[in-house]
Amino acid sequence: MSNLSESIKSKLAAMAEDYIRQLPARFDEISRYTENAKDDQSWESLEILKNSIHKLAGSGATFGFDELSEKSKKLEEYLSSFLQDSIIPKSPDWNDFDCFLSEIEDICKPEENVEELEELEELDEISVSGTDDNRIDPQLDRYERNMLIYLSDKEDSILSEISDQMAIFGFHIDALSSIAEVKEYLGQDKCRLIIVNSSFIENSDTAGSELMQLKKSCSVSLSFIFIAERNDFTLRLKTVKAGGDAFFVIPLDTGMLVDKIDKLTSRSSHPPYHVLLIDDDPEQIAYYAFVLQQAGMITSVASNPKRVIEVLVESKPELILLDMYMPVCSGIELAAIIRQHEAFMTIPIIFLSAEKSEDKQLEALKSGADDFLTKPIRPETLIIRINAKAARSRNLRFLMERDSLTGLLNHAHLKERISIELIRVKRSGGNLSYAMIDADHFKNVNDSYGHLAGDLVLKSLSRMLQDRLRRTDIIGRYGGEEFGVILINTDSENAYNVMEEVRKNFALVKHKSDETEFYVTFSCGIASFSECESPSELNDAADKAMYIAKTSGRNKTVVYKP
Ligand code: GH3
Ligand code: MG
Ligand code: MG
Repeated sequence: MSNLSESIKSKLAAMAEDYIRQLPARFDEISRYTENAKDDQSWESLEILKNSIHKLAGSGATFGFDELSEKSKKLEEYLSSFLQDSIIPKSPDWNDFDCFLSEIEDICKPEENVEELEELEELDEISVSGTDDNRIDPQLDRYERNMLIYLSDKEDSILSEISDQMAIFGFHIDALSSIAEVKEYLGQDKCRLIIVNSSFIENSDTAGSELMQLKKSCSVSLSFIFIAERNDFTLRLKTVKAGGDAFFVIPLDTGMLVDKIDKLTSRSSHPPYHVLLIDDDPEQIAYYAFVLQQAGMITSVASNPKRVIEVLVESKPELILLDMYMPVCSGIELAAIIRQHEAFMTIPIIFLSAEKSEDKQLEALKSGADDFLTKPIRPETLIIRINAKAARSRNLRFLMERDSLTGLLNHAHLKERISIELIRVKRSGGNLSYAMIDADHFKNVNDSYGHLAGDLVLKSLSRMLQDRLRRTDIIGRYGGEEFGVILINTDSENAYNVMEEVRKNFALVKHKSDETEFYVTFSCGIASFSECESPSELNDAADKAMYIAKTSGRNKTVVYKP
């Protein structure tokens, strides 16, 4: 990311030109505030004037007008010295001020007749841009991730066996028999994983190196999983030389295979980071949002600090880029308010400001901010700094929020999400269902096949939930062999249909322990927001429905009826 492309550079240049056109209006605003401050001699109007000058210093730096930024900063410091000493400036003080101000005017209004400028439109409170992960069509996404190639040089009985079991997990397998076919197929689709029957490289002198060649020349990451009828070192070595990423011995353990496929295919497709920009200056916010979007991030923006908590709940950003001075409250105060909310205690807050004072920067960090970036900042630097912070925060959050066996949300965070989603649905209308899942006779599973086999069953259930539900649905491990699913925008009838599909499919999954194969079922209880408005009511109702499912024979889904 060291160099921005020409088209991005020219878009940034165009934004800077827009900014030049806005400068006379910005200056007029400062003039008005100056007159006010002179007239009413109040701290409040002085503060407003100072903030407007600070904004000019910041935006000047953002758009590359260093002289304007420096001069504005000097003027801001001049005013600050009065504010700090609690002195209202007298008329000679204003003379000096006016001198400074006229230098700024020369920059903002270089010509006499500047064309009339339209008033800036207020930015929308929330606007989300970029490719939001949640907005990707889940069907499309699943299709791409779950297309697989099976490559074999012979008529193969293994194919139908894998196809059937993998279909339960939502995978579609196409069988091919030559590298030429594979090349053509890769050219059309986004499939990135090939299951290769080892006989394909055993029966040919060149197939192994051709596969390796294919992998190296492929522009997207391509993975090979080899399957073999015997487990021997020479064969394993051959598959490694052919670019193999994994080796499975037949009979296949579908759960392990699915797990491996997930690991291999998720490697290069982490969802984009979502950044919330808070700033009262629409031009600067548009500029930084554009820069971050070009780096593949999703951005939400908020121009009104009063509505920030709402925006946080609504748009679920992973990082906040915050302005230091805004009209209603300062960035430091806003950071403190954000940190008062348990749910937003850990979200990284980064200040982006023209503020150079080290004391002020330290004060910001003490208020709970994670970093302080000063304007001007090169777009490349901003992107790298935000990327690094967002990545670290996402990793940490993953460790804190996730259950280690399944990677699903843990109990505490599932409950937290229920609360957040209920707040959301109360505000925006719509519905939400909560499904509780409990594996049937799981104690027997452990007793009969061992705890390890039990763990794999739980993993495969978690995998199936992730695959069958929409990306917007929220899945957690409630505890032990119990799971909870928040189905967004779904009434109980639809939730019932979805969970029944999962239940029926899961009952078909063949689990393995040594040489024994076995099946496991689950029971499910569903409750909806339309009957239960609080998290505890929702939880209790789903629990009651689950109890009925258990006592009336298990392996079924029951919807709560008040
Ligand atoms: P029911 O159909 O009534 O739900 O019967 P059950 O046996 O599933 O219910 P019970 O609550 O009596 O037992 C739950 C079992 O789940 C006991 C426990 O050992 C097992 N279990 C809980 N967590 C895990 C886990 O992480 N791994 C494995 N392998 N087993 C677990
Ligand atoms: Mg249980
Ligand atoms: Mg159970």
